[in-house]
Amino acid sequence: MGKIVGIPKALLYYNFYPMWKTFFEELGAEVITSCNTCKKIVDDGVKSCVDETCLPVKIFVGHVIDLKEKGVDYIFIPRVVSIEKRRYLCSKFLGLPDLVKNLVTNLPEIIDMKIDYYRGDDTMKREILRVGKKFVNDSKKIYDAYLKSIEMQKKFESVMRRGLSNTEAIKAIEENSVDVKLNGNLKIALLAHSYDIMDDYICMGIIDRLRNMGANVFTTCMLDRDKIELGASKLQKDLFWTYGRDILGAGKYFIENRDIDGVISVSAFGCGPDSLTDDLLERDYKRDGKIPYMSLTIDEHTGEAGITTRLEAFIDLLRWRKGEITI
Ligand code: SF4
Repeated sequence: MGKIVGIPKALLYYNFYPMWKTFFEELGAEVITSCNTCKKIVDDGVKSCVDETCLPVKIFVGHVIDLKEKGVDYIFIPRVVSIEKRRYLCSKFLGLPDLVKNLVTNLPEIIDMKIDYYRGDDTMKREILRVGKKFVNDSKKIYDAYLKSIEMQKKFESVMRRGLSNTEAIKAIEENSVDVKLNGNLKIALLAHSYDIMDDYICMGIIDRLRNMGANVFTTCMLDRDKIELGASKLQKDLFWTYGRDILGAGKYFIENRDIDGVISVSAFGCGPDSLTDDLLERDYKRDGKIPYMSLTIDEHTGEAGITTRLEAFIDLLRWRKGEITI
């Protein structure tokens, strides 16, 4: 049996899991993930981290502990510097393997692959070979596995653009069946990092809640790239964080195109980049004054009742504006 690689179900899992899984499976490894986020995972993460750490990183650490307890051979914690040319991710991703090694003892071997497309593909090729050789001593096979993983990522992104959330797209790919349901009569943009809105435990299943209230939900991953780029081209100053720029670009796009009934921004407690993007988004929507905008901050104490009440009030406001209800 192949070595077992554990992938924490947190942070960039939601953006890259099918790609990473394909790469390791092509090399003969067995891939498992940590459990869905639960109280134990959150408590383990919170206990291990200093208070100032952002919520998604605390949760990530809880997922690493879960994988350690499952007895995997390796835990995949990439050092993600950049996923496109001339832009970076938040600095927390750069130091994530070091942070985890310092916080959690008795870990299995960490695969800390450096993912850095800032200056082109060469760094990636070196890293792919370095990591691949833990599993097979065959450079061609390793490079082929990498190419297959890139194809899988393209497929994953195209499935999301058909209207599926990241978690739905992961499931659709595993089951080889895509079922898109857009039955609502409201259109709501949910602007956030994927890990803030896909983890049902921490964001209380916000996407399903909105859908159950009759809304079709659009995230940045569901939008065509050219729409995000069009919106981002209206920014006064380009932003060098990839995901923050996507959020602001989507926000600008909706203001310009009026193709949405309301916008909800979700940010995580303790997130530096979110404090900037959230403030910029709010100013843009206030200045425009035409599209209702709501900002939600999630933390480990976020209660279901609080989220539900705010979502219901927001939906009522949108329906009132459309003349569907009176208040
Ligand atoms: S962008 Fe914010 S939430 Fe995400 S890792 Fe960085 S600080 Fe944490």
